[in-house]
Amino acid sequence: MRSLLFLVLTIVVTRMAAAQDLAMASDVRWEPEQPQQGTLIYLIVNTHLEDEGVNVTGQVAGQELHFTRDPSGEFRAIAPVPVNALETIPFTFAVIQRSDSSHRMIRVPVGQREFRSSRLSVDPRFSTPPDSALQVRIRRESAKSVAVSRRSHDTPRMWNGEWIPPRQSPITSEFGERRMFNRELRSRHMGVDFDGETGDPIVVANRGVVALIGNFYYAGNVVYVDHGKGLITIYMHMTEVDVTEGQIVERGEQIGKVGATGRVTGPHVHWTARYGRISVDGLSLFDLPRSSVVDQGN
Ligand SMILES: [Zn+2]
Repeated sequence: MRSLLFLVLTIVVTRMAAAQDLAMASDVRWEPEQPQQGTLIYLIVNTHLEDEGVNVTGQVAGQELHFTRDPSGEFRAIAPVPVNALETIPFTFAVIQRSDSSHRMIRVPVGQREFRSSRLSVDPRFSTPPDSALQVRIRRESAKSVAVSRRSHDTPRMWNGEWIPPRQSPITSEFGERRMFNRELRSRHMGVDFDGETGDPIVVANRGVVALIGNFYYAGNVVYVDHGKGLITIYMHMTEVDVTEGQIVERGEQIGKVGATGRVTGPHVHWTARYGRISVDGLSLFDLPRSSVVDQGN
């Protein structure tokens, strides 16, 4: 009886050790080699296993990662580096082979960016604390926004190839800028502003589905486009929206017109990119196809 128990324990311990090795034996790297605050990167796991039953799952900043296997057998996923990340971010992943799985945590180094500071003056109603009715409205709008982020993880990948900016015009405010509104409210600029006159066209950055349209307190008339597998782009302050929820839009298609709705200093389009709930610099989308070996679906 005792020897049987010992045998069972030995098998269990051996299997655990074997499973443990799957993650420990994997090589992990990232692109670019020096990830920066507030950008998208690729995480690449090489399990050295040819078995087609092998899979990789993972998480960064509380967001699920979606790994796909490329022709070389490596697994790669897009991951967000939060703007406030300090020296490293933890990346946890699991290698799953049939019924075995093993986990591992890696610290990915993060380069610190210099963000500019600016002072802006807006309508005083935007720099005084919102009253309770307004707080309810802002919370409701925020919940809708979060729901889009959550659903995007379940949307199949819709984007392909190059990403383009929402307008071919100068950038008037960069991502990550620290801001003071009317000398009072401090915040961080979580998007990129493109110049434009009221009525100028705004185009979508890549293929996706219109996930949400709203008239929000801060964002004004806003369009959320879900590109699938966690990637979302958001277009704010429109004077007019030219699409409907559920509509599939192709890269470069006009989705609305520049305006000055919501909290603004004048007409422009504020463009936000997100991986799940994490806002990142939309300009880092432009580097994705270049560093991606796989660029076909899923
Ligand atoms: Zn902006």
